[in-house]
Amino acid sequence: MPKIVVLGTATNVPDLDHENSHMVLVGEERMVLIDGPGSPFLRLQKAGLDPEKLTDIVVTHFHPDHVSGISTLMMSMGLSQRKAPINIYANAHCTAFLKQMFDNYEWNTWHFFPVTFHTVPEEELHTIIDSDEFKVYTSPVKHFVPTFGIRVETKDSGKVFAYSCDTAPTASVVSLAQNADVFIHEAAGASEGHSSAKQAAEMAVEANVKELLLIHYPVNGFDYQKLVGEAKEVFSGPVSAAEDFLEINLS
Ligand SMILES: [Zn+2]
Repeated sequence: MPKIVVLGTATNVPDLDHENSHMVLVGEERMVLIDGPGSPFLRLQKAGLDPEKLTDIVVTHFHPDHVSGISTLMMSMGLSQRKAPINIYANAHCTAFLKQMFDNYEWNTWHFFPVTFHTVPEEELHTIIDSDEFKVYTSPVKHFVPTFGIRVETKDSGKVFAYSCDTAPTASVVSLAQNADVFIHEAAGASEGHSSAKQAAEMAVEANVKELLLIHYPVNGFDYQKLVGEAKEVFSGPVSAAEDFLEINLS
């Protein structure tokens, strides 16, 4: 059952076919949203998923193309009579700003379900969720603000999924993605806090992953398929550009 549903794939400027990058890990008992730009409530519905089933929200870093929709998601859940608790995982930097954001929106007037914040330490392969179905780890990566990437290990199948999040090439990404079956790496373009498709492929080679998917790539008429070609020059396994609503089966 565990699967990843990609809810958005664009870098910071989305287009009609590519929302800003975010995804959801779906299990039998837990449903874990990973970032929330735009309207995650609508995006989950469009993917055929019930937002009320969300149990956890993981926020990788406090940039608007990753967090802007978390407040509206919380409000929509609160005002649709949600009673079930929810966990929010973020590093200290992001947690402080999320709380400030919710306070600025006077969230005490519209959320009526228990919310537990889990402050994620900046340590490598830190376990944030350990359920019957999967284990979710975070590791700090190299971006403009404190940010973590994610590794998911499924218990039945042993399948491993990793997501670089926004990052320049760095050793922690390699250990995070080590031997992953599916590795999603950003390809926004090389800079101090982002990577090119070629650099994503270099990380995939170093981490010995089986398959590489590119995400957080430029859209709006940009020929992002050419990024796949650039990655293929370095990484010999399967490479493709993740598309919105792609499902990655981890069972
Ligand atoms: Zn960012």
